[in-house]
Amino acid sequence: MSVIDTPALCDLAIIGGGAAGVLAAIGVLRGASGPLRLLVIEPNLPLARGVAYATTREEHVLNVPAAKMSGFPEQAEDFLDYLCDVQAFPAVPREQLASQFVPRRHYADYLRLRLQQALDASPAQLEILAVRVQALQPNDDGVLLTLDSGGSVLAARVILAVGNALRPLPARGAGSLPDSLRVEAWDYPALGGIAGSADVAIIGSGLSMTDAVATLQANGHRGRIHVLSRHALLPLPHAKGAAADYDPEPLLAMNLRQRLHALRAHAAEAAVRDIPWQSVMERIRPLGQRLWQTLSPDDQRRFLRHVVRYWDVHRHRIAAPVHAQLLELQQSGRLQLHRGRLETAVAEGACVCLGAQDRQRRPLQLEVQCVVNATGVEMRAQAMRNPLLQQLLGSGVGRPGPHGIGLDTAADGSLIDAEGRVESRIQVLGSLRIGSLWESLAIPELRGQAAAAAKQVLLPPPLREA
Ligand SMILES: Cc1cc2nc3c(=O)[nH]c(=O)nc-3n(C[C@H](O)[C@H](O)[C@H](O)COP(=O)(O)OP(=O)(O)OC[C@H]3O[C@@H](n4cnc5c(N)ncnc54)[C@H](O)[C@@H]3O)c2cc1C
Repeated sequence: MSVIDTPALCDLAIIGGGAAGVLAAIGVLRGASGPLRLLVIEPNLPLARGVAYATTREEHVLNVPAAKMSGFPEQAEDFLDYLCDVQAFPAVPREQLASQFVPRRHYADYLRLRLQQALDASPAQLEILAVRVQALQPNDDGVLLTLDSGGSVLAARVILAVGNALRPLPARGAGSLPDSLRVEAWDYPALGGIAGSADVAIIGSGLSMTDAVATLQANGHRGRIHVLSRHALLPLPHAKGAAADYDPEPLLAMNLRQRLHALRAHAAEAAVRDIPWQSVMERIRPLGQRLWQTLSPDDQRRFLRHVVRYWDVHRHRIAAPVHAQLLELQQSGRLQLHRGRLETAVAEGACVCLGAQDRQRRPLQLEVQCVVNATGVEMRAQAMRNPLLQQLLGSGVGRPGPHGIGLDTAADGSLIDAEGRVESRIQVLGSLRIGSLWESLAIPELRGQAAAAAKQVLLPPPLREA
């Protein structure tokens, strides 16, 4: 695996070397039957970190148990195998490790090892280009990529895996706050550098908020922690318990209201048998994409407007100890949860004054020494601050996905252009497909998409030989 600086012709360019891009690269290396030239373009090396797995902090744990984090559909316990092989936790027996939420940093190490192993056994060639792609234009010869280094690459096929973009802090004045007062939740070194005595406001109450709180705690933070979000719903915990055994298929034929009613009924029935509601949610986990796709467009809109926050806290759960820590902090009064909409953020000396409105439009003022933007993944295509996506949409090479979320893609992941034409030379992975699939963010979906994209790009017409 070599990092190159001379852009070139290649058979396949993978744009984005986060988890999804690396999983696709592994699939291509494993599936290649002849010499191919594969290029992974990723400005932030080493590979496989992306947003989620770039953290090296012990308190930032996976929100999925180790046994369910395999990168490969056909090897269900591969991540667990890896943890055991490298003796990441020598004192923990395998059966126990299977249900643990291990630090996320192990995941990037795992993917990089599997990438190297796939490369060693493959007739294909892998090169890495440490730049950002600025523009992408299909033509008769392939897909032309313009790089921020000034060069260009002509690729026969492209996998677009540019992943997650953080929403900007939704407040007037936020853009002009100095870095000393403002931290992005995914900037892990900056998060770790927040002064122990600082009063902190975290905007957003989802999974990135739990990362921020965990880091403050790990650093012995003594100040107050305010969490401000529009619904003030904290993520809920995973729970151990028997599996729910209801048949989820009938849900697919119901409208949104009927589905919610049926799920509540299943949870109530489960509770009578001492089965946690979490097991009821687990039962529909494999149906996530079909549940979305069988909702009418109107019901999808209703879901996005009225249900999504409640869905998120039930679906995207956190490890029980992380949840217990949040509750403990809340009960002690050190963490205060506020329901409201942030409106302004103004620096005043060493403080930042935040102005918000609660549900009754009453003003809420917070004065803190640091504000953390934990508003999460930006789903709206037009608002994503990635110049490549802006270029794709502006030039008509792509168009926004359903409800303006991500990019529009065909069932096989091919990009759809502004005229509705399917561009099968460009495969899209991950969160950009949320509008079409809804469930398209976590590893269980990414590994399936990456394997399918790898198969697709290896299909005839045969790729040009190196
Ligand atoms: C904080 C956090 C924790 C998570 N925890 C879990 C978990 O425990 N379990 C789970 O299953 N899922 C988890 N997820 C979901 C997570 O999004 C996926 O597991 C996975 O990391 C997504 O990978 P990705 O490659 O699609 O995107 P990213 O990780 O965002 O990677 C995209 C890459 O593309 C690169 N890129 C962007 N634009 C360009 C460009 N123009 N040119 C070249 N490169 C570009 C970026 O530098 C980045 O490295 C978590 C997500 C977050 C944000």
